[in-house]
Amino acid sequence: RFITLEGGEGVGKSTQVRALADALRARGLEVVTTREPGGSDGAEAIRRLLLEGGEERWSAPAEALLFAAARTDHVDKLVRPAIQSGKWVLSDRFIDSSLAYQGGAGGLGIEAVRAINAFGIEGWFPDRTLLLLHPDGAERARARDGDESDRIGGRPASYHDAVEQAFRDIAAAEPDRVRLIDASGSPEDVTERLLGTLEDLL
Ligand code: C5P
Repeated sequence: RFITLEGGEGVGKSTQVRALADALRARGLEVVTTREPGGSDGAEAIRRLLLEGGEERWSAPAEALLFAAARTDHVDKLVRPAIQSGKWVLSDRFIDSSLAYQGGAGGLGIEAVRAINAFGIEGWFPDRTLLLLHPDGAERARARDGDESDRIGGRPASYHDAVEQAFRDIAAAEPDRVRLIDASGSPEDVTERLLGTLEDLL
């Protein structure tokens, strides 16, 4: 099975990927955790190109194609082989981050970004995508960054609002694959909610 966790900054995705993996292992499953952008040698190299270049380095379409190229390598080298050998793969971000960030908030359009990614990943869509929503996510991310301004990860709050709206639109269009998860409360409670939405896959 292929499960992805999505959401804006500060919602606790990385903590929950680890906790959910432990919970699934406790049920006897073999679980591989990974994250994007990255997850394979080639994808990590592209991650460096994306993150080190600064805002001005890539045009929006070039950036979206680099994310898609990284994802294609990640699927080829890690996701597909692991799933084919019977493991569960949990990824911290996947295609829906590109749809929401580059497609929705970045203005390229969700369908255009879906098309370039669909070409790359050749049908390897997640079996389930857990969209974590936390009312204080942006505030927590800002505190973590130590950013005094109202920017988060170098982008204005309005950008992050557009990201969240795009995630919600994607979830509404694909309710069976994408589930909304309330990420507030204790980490243990959130992990229980995540597990609850996977029962039919177990
Ligand atoms: O939250 P996380 O550490 O996974 O995010 C890494 C950074 O990459 C964030 O600033 C996020 O906004 C950005 N990102 C993006 N487009 C994607 C995936 C992540 O801009 N497709």
